[in-house]
Order: sequence, then C-alpha cells, then structure tokens
Amino acid sequence: MQAARLYSARPASTIPSVFESVKSHKVPIFFSRYPAGISIVAREVEYALREIDEQACEEGTREWRQAIVRHANPYGSYFTICHCTAFPERLVLFSTMAEVLWIHDDMTEEMDHASACREHDEMAKVLRLDIEESMFKSGNLRQKSLAAVLRKAIDIDPKQAATMIQMLKKYLATFDSIGGVFTRMEDYMPYRIANSGYWMSSYFVRWGMGMMLSDEEYASIEEHDTAMGNVLGLTNDYFSWNMEKDQQEDRMRNGVAVLMKEHNTTAEAAKVMLLGVIVEQESLAAKLKEERLKKPASKEIRQYFEAIELYVGGSCYWHSTAPRYQVPTH
Ligand SMILES: [Mg+2]
Repeated sequence: MQAARLYSARPASTIPSVFESVKSHKVPIFFSRYPAGISIVAREVEYALREIDEQACEEGTREWRQAIVRHANPYGSYFTICHCTAFPERLVLFSTMAEVLWIHDDMTEEMDHASACREHDEMAKVLRLDIEESMFKSGNLRQKSLAAVLRKAIDIDPKQAATMIQMLKKYLATFDSIGGVFTRMEDYMPYRIANSGYWMSSYFVRWGMGMMLSDEEYASIEEHDTAMGNVLGLTNDYFSWNMEKDQQEDRMRNGVAVLMKEHNTTAEAAKVMLLGVIVEQESLAAKLKEERLKKPASKEIRQYFEAIELYVGGSCYWHSTAPRYQVPTH
C-alpha cells in the first residue's frame, strides 16, 4: 500500500488515516457530489462478514443467498466503503452488528407486518448493557450472533455503550414501524431515513472514529444530517428500483413507487423525478454545511462533515457498482 494514496494525507483533514480514496467518478452511473473511499482493512472485514453470515443464517435460506450476493461486489463491501473512516477494530464490530441486522431485515421484509414486528421485539431483547451470548442459548441464530458482537462493542467503548444501545433500540423500534404503502413524498421521506438505518449509521460513523457530538453540537448539524439521510435512503431507492419493482409486498419502501402514486405517472418519469429530489437534497446539505462552517466549529463537527460525506458518497459508489442492482430495465 502506498501511503501517498491515503485520503487523509490531504492537508486540513481531521479524520483518521484509515482508508484510501477511490475513483468513484470513473463509474458511469455514479452521480454523487461526494467523494468515496475504502478501508485499509477491507479484507479482514470481509472475512469477519463471511464468518458472521455463517453464524447468523441457515445455509440455503433466502437471507443466506442474499448475503452472498451482497458481498459479491468486486469493488468492496458496503461497510468497508461507507464506513471507511472507522478505526479497524471498530469497523469490524460495527460491520458484523449491522450485518446481523441486515439479515434480520431481509428475513422479516417478506413477513406480514404484525409477524415482522414480533420478530423486531425479539431482536430488541438482545440490546442490553449486561448482554452475554449465554443468555440466548435457546434464542434464534440472529439473537445469538448479535449478542456476541454487541458484548465486544460495549467493552471496546464502555463510555458510549448506553448511547449505542439506545441508537440500536431506536433503529429496531422505528425502521419498520408503519405498515402499508406511502402516497406522498412528504410523509415517506422522514420515515425512509429511519427505515434505511441512517440514524443508526450516522451515529456509528461517529462511533467508528471514537468521537461524540454533544447535544448542542448535534442540534447545530441536525438539519444537515436530515438532508444527508434523505440522500442516503433515496439513493438506495433509485438504484434498487429495478430489483424491487415487481415485489408484491404490503409495504414496499421505494420513492419511485411513492412518486408514481403522488403524481400519477410512469415508473420511468418517477425515477427521473427521484434523482431530482436527491440532487436537491444534496444541494440543501451543501448550503447547510456552508452556513454552519461560517460559525465556530469544533474538531468533532469538522470530522462529522468529512466522514458523513464519505459515507453518503460511498453508498452511491457501492450501489453503482453492486451486481445486485445491475438488473436490466427491460
Ligand atoms: Mg431498496
């Protein structure tokens, strides 16, 4: 590895030198205004992900197959790209925790809403400070796997443990809390931020660098975080539409479907509109960041801005290279 390629070798960078930048703009369908990078421990993380998949899924099931496809991106895994700013040990812990939650999401999205909510409550039982894997001897595979990783994540940073558990609880309680379909973007967008896991991930971007924002600091960037959350969730909708359009679910989560209903238009037109909404939210975030930086900003605030842009830019890069989304339109 050549040290000169490390992104944070750039002057004035405030984030850890733990990743390399990637040439995302060479990918034709990449459209984000933000940069992207990949962790220098990408291979170790991928190994840990394969291991947790074996523990958390039964071989041959739908979620097991989906995990294989998810990790088939030759450009890297979602976590090593999006969370490239995390310290290596923390990146492994967050990635494996989030992987179990992703498997859980894949398993429960096909269930009726009431059954899925029961499963979410079961998973939430793992989220406690005194967690031990042995408490879930009779539990399901996802509970056992999450318990083991969560114990390590608590021990690596006991000071942040209570907040971390709160964030995970909030995710499980809100990501699938509304059944049915949405017909207006103004209702859908705030819901989709939580549904996409953005609030949890934005917290873990900070946790990964071992830093926190005080309540006052977070309040001063909350609007920016919301705009970035919209970009993140809707970018997934944009790229996953071709894969999701034929799913007959009682609660499809895709902005293309919402815009089709809201404006009584075709999928093609709605997809172009969705791209417009994403670009508008990016512009809003850029404006909010500019305004915030006119006022005194702590090192943590500047770290947040740099890292969250790599997260959101990384997500567009991962989606634009992931084989699972390269489904032909016709
Ligand atoms: Mg999707």
